[in-house]
Amino acid sequence: MSDCLFSDKIIREGVANYGTPFWLYDQATIEKRVQELKCFDVVRFAQKACPNLSILSLIRKCGAVVDAVSAGEIVRALRAGFKGGESDKQVPQIVYTADIFDRDAIELVKKHKIHVNVGSADMIQQLADAGVRSNITLRLNPGFGHGHSQKTNTGGPLSKHGVWYSQIKDCLKLAQSNGMWITGLHMHIGSGSDFEHLSKVCDAMRDASRHLGSHLRVISAGGGLPIPYKETEKNNRIDVKAYYDLWNKTRKDIAQSIGHDLALEVEPGRYLVAESAVLVAEIRAVKKQADNLFYLVDAGFNDLVRPSFYGSYHAISIVSSDGRNLGEAQDAIVAGPLCESGDVFTQEEGGFVVSRKLPEAKVGDFLVLHDTGAYGSAMSSNYNSRRYAPEILFSNGELKLIRERQTFDQLMENEKIVTL
Ligand SMILES: *Cc1c(COP(=O)(O)O)cnc(C)c1O
Repeated sequence: MSDCLFSDKIIREGVANYGTPFWLYDQATIEKRVQELKCFDVVRFAQKACPNLSILSLIRKCGAVVDAVSAGEIVRALRAGFKGGESDKQVPQIVYTADIFDRDAIELVKKHKIHVNVGSADMIQQLADAGVRSNITLRLNPGFGHGHSQKTNTGGPLSKHGVWYSQIKDCLKLAQSNGMWITGLHMHIGSGSDFEHLSKVCDAMRDASRHLGSHLRVISAGGGLPIPYKETEKNNRIDVKAYYDLWNKTRKDIAQSIGHDLALEVEPGRYLVAESAVLVAEIRAVKKQADNLFYLVDAGFNDLVRPSFYGSYHAISIVSSDGRNLGEAQDAIVAGPLCESGDVFTQEEGGFVVSRKLPEAKVGDFLVLHDTGAYGSAMSSNYNSRRYAPEILFSNGELKLIRERQTFDQLMENEKIVTL
């Protein structure tokens, strides 16, 4: 069984104070991860990974800025203290990155002067139509993507993201005819630690930059930095220095060809927060189906959807409720409470249920799902009318409530029974 980020004592204290299930974040881990990426000129947090206001505020205090992919994320960024508005030299604190504007988003962009990273020519036209005359960034689809999962592929002819590389010139003309300059070039392909692939991505950035010339101020490497989810990967972290070196060289080459310096941004979601949190649940039933042992817990895929959605792996540990030593490890399947057969935390891509070696445990013990800080709470739903779980921040030795458990009233507050 893998080591937990938090001591048993802290887990028990969290359960006693807030009940289960709950998310528990570690401030120090987030601070450390931001610090590790400070070699980049700008660390831009992709807040969709974990948009809690306290987490955003912490990220801001660490000196990072944010990305917003919706109207709601712009509002969150503003509430967490990030500012709209642009000046030529300053880095925009909030960048709106998307392939479309919905009506709410374009209104907020205009009102708060939010810098936009456009993923379609239509967005440029709509900015112009809304009377916005600002500098923009262009998100590039270089014609290829990375990764095997269709759900996570962010480039190539079947990807909806970004402007197709051969259309950059048209976008540039459209922008200029409306009084806007393309000052940033962005790519989010997610090569992760595949450095051979990454150098292809860097080449695509060099090629694209040739169309933009001297107005270019910043290039963004996007996100996609991986973290080790499996115990066997823990000694094989991404080499941040090597990752930076490849991008830094790209930046220098482009700077040289356009004749002035350029800023280099990185835009991680997962990397900054994934390892900072656990999801704590209580074991509510221990049962056997034929020879298979099941631990059934009070958290489901409405809380953490990654295993059901992508077959993602999360390490699991167990904390006894009463301080006793846990029994010998055995094969167990961990599943949740939802009326849905896919509500299983131990599954592989394609929905194949597998077992995990876990200590003998009993009802009332606590089951801890590790590395759930990214796309954990952020992807929760109210499916089965289950309420959003509370979020707790472990900060300077103290547990601080950063989101309360949703109430039943809140769950239904926008619904009406109409007279029929
Ligand atoms: C999701 C996303 C990211 C962050 O991706 P991670 O894999 O979490 O690092 C960065 N940039 C954009 C535009 C995104 O959509």
